Amino acid sequence: MPTQTLDKEVVIIGSGPAGLTAAIYAARANLKPLLIDAPADAEKQTAPGGQLMITTDVENYPGFAKGIDGPALMEEFRAQAERFGTEFLEEWIHTADVSERPFILKTDNYEINTQTLIIATGASAMWLGIPGEAKVPDGFGGNGVSACATCDGPLPGFRNQPLVVVGGGDTAMEEATFLTRYAAKVYVIHRRDKLRASKIMQDKAFQNPKIEFVWNTEVEEILGETQAGVTGVRLRNVQTHEERVLACSGVFIAIGHKPNTALFKGQLDMDEIGYLVTAHRSTATNVPGVFACGDVQDNCYRQAVTAAGTGCMAALDAERFLDHLPVAMPGGDEVTIEGEHITPDHQAIIEPDGRMVPNHPEMAARED
Ligand SMILES: Cc1cc2nc3c(=O)[nH]c(=O)nc-3n(C[C@H](O)[C@H](O)[C@H](O)COP(=O)(O)OP(=O)(O)OC[C@H]3O[C@@H](n4cnc5c(N)ncnc54)[C@H](O)[C@@H]3O)c2cc1C
Repeated sequence: MPTQTLDKEVVIIGSGPAGLTAAIYAARANLKPLLIDAPADAEKQTAPGGQLMITTDVENYPGFAKGIDGPALMEEFRAQAERFGTEFLEEWIHTADVSERPFILKTDNYEINTQTLIIATGASAMWLGIPGEAKVPDGFGGNGVSACATCDGPLPGFRNQPLVVVGGGDTAMEEATFLTRYAAKVYVIHRRDKLRASKIMQDKAFQNPKIEFVWNTEVEEILGETQAGVTGVRLRNVQTHEERVLACSGVFIAIGHKPNTALFKGQLDMDEIGYLVTAHRSTATNVPGVFACGDVQDNCYRQAVTAAGTGCMAALDAERFLDHLPVAMPGGDEVTIEGEHITPDHQAIIEPDGRMVPNHPEMAARED
């Protein structure tokens, strides 16, 4: 039962690259943002700082020529957001009501009312739940096991080595094709005898001489040693139940991602997987005043730098909205905090009471 009430102009949920970048921009705009993130919880796989907290080398974030450790990068993000006055709250949000402004968020201890909401809750990679997959020291996660080929594929330990990709969809084909740039060989392990991936992605993978498919097979265990990391996988054929060990130096799990959007189901527009739908060239959702940034609205790039980029956009969009300026919506129209809608062709304004007026002063004057 919440015991304290907070009233805010800008609340951000999530302290990954998207949320913290939004916080830096909103704080520098004197909007005194409150950033809420879930506490660290091994079972729910949450950690303030987001997904980069479970990785070591980040080699592709601009500004760090020698690369940087994931948690160290997120510490820098956080210190920068703190420097400009971001307030932090570490609590799970249990309910969110965005049916009207102020939007209402409830945690164990707080009821938070906010004029704008920036959702940066990220997406979680789906895992197999098999032995050896967990993060170091419980398994080889971060030491040969990854869910992101773009992020980890170029690391030295994977170069000229045999690698395994698990999955049969577009993501798995994309990851396998990408990894052939570095690997000696890529085995795609799929539990069925045909792929779910689109034809064009399948064709690309089938034509690649470095990719070998292992059909009707599941990975039972990831094998390795503390120092060397991953050394192989134990496979089981689902039809014959025959088991064997396949030697490899890395395992990329590519069975999909789950966006963290359960709080907003039925309230905000989502695609069939659950990613939030935002406007083209804007971070606006279908509810005026609610913005989304980072992996929670990005089924395509899923990188720290793109998350940070959209975090910046979300803060600028929220600032614009609070300044009574129109913000682009997913449907192509624009909307103001007063509830005025500007039509996609910019020719008319629909007032909150439904009255339509021309959007050109000279036309309005002529009509008068
Ligand atoms: C193993 C691994 C390695 C990676 N390596 C790289 C790399 O080298 N380079 C790169 O560019 N990208 C890398 N990525 C991808 C990158 O981490 C993501 O693209 C990026 O973190 C997305 O940022 P985000 O802010 O959108 O979300 P996230 O980083 O996922 O942060 C979301 C935050 O929201 C919080 N949250 C979720 N739901 C709630 C709730 N209900 N209440 C409160 N808080 C909530 C979560 O706890 C989390 O802290 C890697 C990803 C993984 C998994």
